[in-house]
Amino acid sequence: MAESTEKLVIKNIAQILSGKLEEPLIDGNCVIAIDGKITDIGYEKDLDTEQATTVIDANDTWLSPGLIDSHVHPVIGDYTPRQQQINWIDSCLHGGVTTMISAGEVHAPGRPKDIVGLKAMAIASQRWYENFRPSGVKMLAGAPVLEEGMEEHDFKELADAGVKLLGEVGLGSVKTGETAAQMVKWARKYGIQSTIHTGGPSIPGSGLIDKDIVLEADADIIGHINGGHTALPDDQIICLCESCSRGIEIVHNGNERAGLLAMRTAFEIKQAERVILGTDSPAGSGVQPLGILRMIAMLSSLGDIPPEIAFCFATGNTARMRELDSGIIEVGKSADFIIIDRAQHAPGKDMLESIHQGNLPGVGMTIIDGVVRSHRSRNTPPATRLPSVVEA
Ligand SMILES: [Zn+2]
Repeated sequence: MAESTEKLVIKNIAQILSGKLEEPLIDGNCVIAIDGKITDIGYEKDLDTEQATTVIDANDTWLSPGLIDSHVHPVIGDYTPRQQQINWIDSCLHGGVTTMISAGEVHAPGRPKDIVGLKAMAIASQRWYENFRPSGVKMLAGAPVLEEGMEEHDFKELADAGVKLLGEVGLGSVKTGETAAQMVKWARKYGIQSTIHTGGPSIPGSGLIDKDIVLEADADIIGHINGGHTALPDDQIICLCESCSRGIEIVHNGNERAGLLAMRTAFEIKQAERVILGTDSPAGSGVQPLGILRMIAMLSSLGDIPPEIAFCFATGNTARMRELDSGIIEVGKSADFIIIDRAQHAPGKDMLESIHQGNLPGVGMTIIDGVVRSHRSRNTPPATRLPSVVEA
C-alpha cells in the first residue's frame, strides 16, 4: 500500500441500511473504504482488514449512508442571515446530514436581481462552498434564481463556469409556465438541474405556483410538493405525481398531511423511487438540524412504511436523481456514513421498530469521505450503544 493511503475499517455493524429501495437492508458486519471510497462490504472474517489507518468498532449498531438534504437555502459559510444563526450546517451534521443541495441562495441580503449580478453571485456561491465545507458537509450550491430577461447564452456561461443547479423556479420574477419552461430547457441543455417552487408563497415577495405551471415548466424536481409551507389542494398534488416523472420532493418546512398524500400517491402508482426529502431550511420556520430524521420517522410511522424504505428517500433516491456518488452503500461510492442506534429508552425491539413507532434514532458518529467528522450527536436523543474509534 502506498504511504499516503487512508484505510478505514468499520466492524461489528449490526445491520447495514443500503439506501437502495430494491434491497434496503444488506447483510454484513464490516465495511472498508480506501481513500474515501467504499472498497468492500461483507463479513469481517472474509475481508482484508489489515493495514487499516482507522478502525471503528460500531458496537453492534447500524450503518446507513449519510443523509442528503435535497433542499436547503444556504448563503455563505456556516451562517444564515434568515435566522441570524451560525453553525446551522454543523447542527445538521449532528442530525446525520452529510450532503446538502442548495435550492437557491435566496436569503442573501441585497441579492442581485440583474442578470450579470445574479450570475456572478451563483458562480461565487458555487466556489465558496466548493472551497469550504462547513464541518466537512458537502454543500452543493451556486443555484441562481431565474429572472426575466435571461437568455440561452446566460445558461451556457453559468454551466461553463461550474454552475450545476438552478434555484427554485418561481422565487424570482419568472413566474409563468411558458418562460419557466424555456429557461428550464436551456438549463438542461447545458447540464444544469432545476427545481421548482410548488404551492403558495413562502415569504412576502414569493408567489403561488400551481400544478399547471409546475407541469408546463417541467423542472427536474417538483420542489416541496407538500408546500413550503402552503400546499396545493390534494387533487393537484395527486395530479403532479401522476402526470409527470419528475422528482417528488417532500420537505420538513411543509404541510405534513400533504407530504403523506404525495408519498402514498407515489406508492400507489409504483414510483416510490421518485420520492426525495429536504428540509427547505433555513426558512421562515427556522433551521431543523433533525429535520431529515424527523421526516423519516414521520413518513414511516404516520405513513406506515418500513423505516428502511424511508431512509432510501433521504439517501439512494436523492443520490440517483441528483447524480451524486454517495447515498448508497456500494463498492466504489463515497464513504459517507452515519452510525446510528435506537435512542435510549425508545420503545420497539430494535432501532427500526422504534422509528416505525415515530421515534428518532440516535446518531453515534458521522463519516464523510472516509473521515470521522463527528462523534455522539449533540442534537439527537442519545443512542443506546455508541461506536468508537479503536485504532487510529
Ligand atoms: Zn420554495
